[in-house]
Amino acid sequence: MIIVVLGPPGAGKGTQSDLLAKELDLPHLSTGDLLREAIANRTPMGRLAQPYMDRGELVPDDVVIALIKERLVQGHPPTGAILDGFPRTVAQGHALNEMLAELGRRVDWVIYLSVPTEELLERITGRYVCPRCAATYHLRGSPPRTPGVCDVCGAALQQRPDDRLDVARRRLTVYFEQTAPLIDFYRRQGVLTEINGEQSIDAVFADELAAIPPRHR
Ligand code: AMP
Repeated sequence: MIIVVLGPPGAGKGTQSDLLAKELDLPHLSTGDLLREAIANRTPMGRLAQPYMDRGELVPDDVVIALIKERLVQGHPPTGAILDGFPRTVAQGHALNEMLAELGRRVDWVIYLSVPTEELLERITGRYVCPRCAATYHLRGSPPRTPGVCDVCGAALQQRPDDRLDVARRRLTVYFEQTAPLIDFYRRQGVLTEINGEQSIDAVFADELAAIPPRHR
């Protein structure tokens, strides 16, 4: 099953994708994580992507399309995947449909996590991540037991550079201009379920499980 998790920055795409990947035993493909890994490893793709990410802009379509194609189509294509943060433009949506069609497959289900805009900036700017084990925290919602220290592995927590207020604002604008049109794109394809993302992590996840299209349960 190919699942796309769609929503604005701060809606909880990464957290929910992780939970779904474990529950459904599917790989979790996050273009944001792949790009951050490329930057950390100083690869040519990382060098190309970094200035866009630092500004809160989207990395060019051809770069992210190639990144996903490599994992979804080439080599040994997985039986399914949870796509987190891809597609982010209608052009990427078309490219995804085309690459899946080559495999005789399609996007089976799109989860759209909706969260009021006022709530998003608060969520993004309060988010801290563990650089060692990738656990995520929120200063208000789910703070670590000791401020600044990961509960799981004890490493010093960090804020993503693009979670700072000015860049976060730009990411939200970019989302509404370039990514939000995908909501209609997938609604028209009859595969979109809107989930209220303004609930606890567990409640959002329960709503998702209840909404899995019947033929995939
Ligand atoms: P995320 O971790 O999903 O919030 O993504 C962080 C940043 O990576 C975004 O602000 C973009 O700069 C870049 N990025 C991630 N996915 C894509 C994509 N599908 N298309 C273009 N840029 C992306």
